Order: sequence, then structure tokens, then C-alpha cells
Amino acid sequence: MYTMGVMTKDILLSQWMEVRSSALRSNLALFRSIIGDSTQLAAVVKANAYGHGLAAVVPVAAPHVDWFAVHTASEARAIRDLGFGHRILVMGYVSAADTYLLDADTHIFVSNSEVARNLGELKRNSGVSVPVHVKVDTGTNRQGINPDELLGLCGEVVDQGLDVVGLATHFANIEDTLEHEFARSQMERFRECIVRVRENGINPPWIHAACSAAALLFREADFTLVRVGISMYGHWPSRETQLSWRMGHPKGSLQLEPMLSWKTVVGQIQKLEAGETVGYGRTWTALRETRLAVLPVGYSDGYPRALGGRGRVLVHGRPAPVVGRVCMNISLVDVTDVPEVEVGDEVILLGRDGELEISAEELAGLAGTINYEFLSRLPPHVIRKVV
Ligand SMILES: *Cc1c(COP(=O)(O)O)cnc(C)c1O
Repeated sequence: MYTMGVMTKDILLSQWMEVRSSALRSNLALFRSIIGDSTQLAAVVKANAYGHGLAAVVPVAAPHVDWFAVHTASEARAIRDLGFGHRILVMGYVSAADTYLLDADTHIFVSNSEVARNLGELKRNSGVSVPVHVKVDTGTNRQGINPDELLGLCGEVVDQGLDVVGLATHFANIEDTLEHEFARSQMERFRECIVRVRENGINPPWIHAACSAAALLFREADFTLVRVGISMYGHWPSRETQLSWRMGHPKGSLQLEPMLSWKTVVGQIQKLEAGETVGYGRTWTALRETRLAVLPVGYSDGYPRALGGRGRVLVHGRPAPVVGRVCMNISLVDVTDVPEVEVGDEVILLGRDGELEISAEELAGLAGTINYEFLSRLPPHVIRKVV
């Protein structure tokens, strides 16, 4: 009935997520229309497809993208197990123990000699030649080789009998500011690296730097491949990115469509007298006769504890506040003002009902974090339905 957490047959559930395939297709078409004709599109599906469910997202995205990009070798293997033969880019560190999960169409970021040696060993032992993208650090000071050591590393890769087919970098603060001077300086450093590598007889076909924000804002960062994550799921990387887009496109709007909804059902109705308190710690007191809906969803399901007393849900097309503490598997909402609510009624934790919307940005903001973290921490055990 379930395939890797995706629901294939209708049964009654106490909570589920809906992944809207039309939204994904529309967001991908949008990126296709703005990136250059000679630029390929990689769908970044690390972290269980940013919480949307790898097995739900990959089949929908597959016909519309050239590559998938993931963090680990086992995520690449999971895409193969779903039956997709696309080129895959593994962007994270792969340990010696995990190299056996790679194949000849699974490309990998290399930013140090150790990984180059492990891949050389894999080739000698099993004959699998993993294509290498050398990752240059142009100022993010995270993962990547220093430009001064770039040619040395390329040499080591070649010495291991492997091909350098890609050169890549990653921006440090493109989402965080309206002022992109640092990103431009990173791009300048990256261009110098491209020249240096070519002068030394290596001409990698895949040159890439862009994440969502760069793919939205910087045509000059297209090169031959872009790696789009958050925005393919319908979210702006940040308000600054959205504002930068608007400043650059005074007339044209850009409609990113969030593709995820999260729903549950009312498990019980509680009737309280004025003065009674609610839940652990008795943090909320009913000021009037109150009807509470008990929801079978809590922080272990990814609904942040920080939403207690601050969040809201939608039920019968109206908002209802989350009251008291969010528990491990239970939350409480005040439905006094939505008197028709009964046990079994559908409740929207995240998503849209008519004009009203509870966005990932709203919930992330209330929980003191960003849409990236909120979405990617949604746990795999909640069933994803592709709609
Ligand atoms: C996660 C990631 C991306 C995608 O970033 P978004 O901002 O979600 O588009 C691109 N490149 C690398 C190296 C990443 O780790």
C-alpha cells in the first residue's frame, strides 16, 4: 500500500502530506523559461526532497529535469532504486565505506585528495569510474578546495584514472542581502578558476555555481548547469531574494507555487468551562466556555513545539489558534468560534483553503527558523500523497 512512504491507495489516516504535482511542474517550467538554453537543470532533492518525500517528488520531476542532486551516496542509490537513470550529482562528503553506492552516472563533488583516492580505489577494485566535479571554495569557506590548490587536486584526480567533468562552486550570502557585491566577487574568482583549469588542458563540460537564489537573480551564474532546491518546491529562498527579484523586474511577477500541504483530522472534542486550564504546564486558561479540538499531531511529527500558543490551523475554511503546549504527538486548537467542527473533520496544518493560507514561512517564522529548516525537518514517517 505504501511505496517508500508514498501512499498509492486511499485509506484513512490520522495525518498526511499532499504533494501537488502540478505546482512542481509549474515551478520547474518557470526555471526552464528563465535559465539559458544551453544550461541544464538539476533538481536538488537532498533531505528527503526538502521534506516533501523523495519517492513522491522524483517521479514527478523526472521528465522535466536533466539531473538530480543529493547530499549522500545513499540518496543517489535511493533514486536508482526508484528506477530513474538520470545523471545524479552527489554534493556531500562520501566516505570510503559508501563509494560502492556510486555508479558511472552518479557524479560527485570532490574537494580533497582523500575522496579522490577513495574513488581511484573504487575504480581499481570494481571498474566503476565515477565522474568528478571539483568543488572550488570561492569564499564560502565551507566545503571546497582553495583556488590555489585547485590544479593540484585536478592532477590527483587524473592520476587516479578519473575524469574531471565538472567545476563547481557555491555562494555564501546570495540569499541574505540585497547587495550582491560578495556574490559577484565569488563569481569573479570562479571565472579565474575556470580559465586556469582550461589552460591546463582540462575542459570540464559541467560548470556550475547557481542555487535557487542565483538561478532567479543572476543569469551570469548559469554556466552549463544550475542546482535548484527550495524554489522548485515553490518557496523563495528569502525575502531579500524576493525583493531583489522585484527590483530587477519592475513589471514581471514570478509565481512560485508551494507544493506541500499537511493535513490531519480532529481526534476528539473537549468542552471546557471558563477558568479551566489546558495541557501540560497549564499554560492556557479558557476565558469562556470553550470547545477544543484534539489533533493527533505533535512535535515528533515535525509540528514545532514553539507553535504552542502561537500557531494556527485552518478548519472549515477558518483559522483556529493552537492553545497550550504542543505535545510529542498531540496538539490542541480552540474551535469555539467554528462551532460545526466534529470528530473526524479535516484540519489543515500547512497549506491553503480558499483565500486563507498557512505558509511554511509563517510556521518557520513563529518557530524561530527559516523555511529550509522547517521543511527539511518534516519527518519521513508522515505519509505523502501525490495529488
Ligand atoms: C542545497 C544546495 C543547493 C540548493 O540550494 P537552494 O537554495 O535550495 O536552491 C545548491 N547547491 C548546493 C551545493 C547545495 O548544497
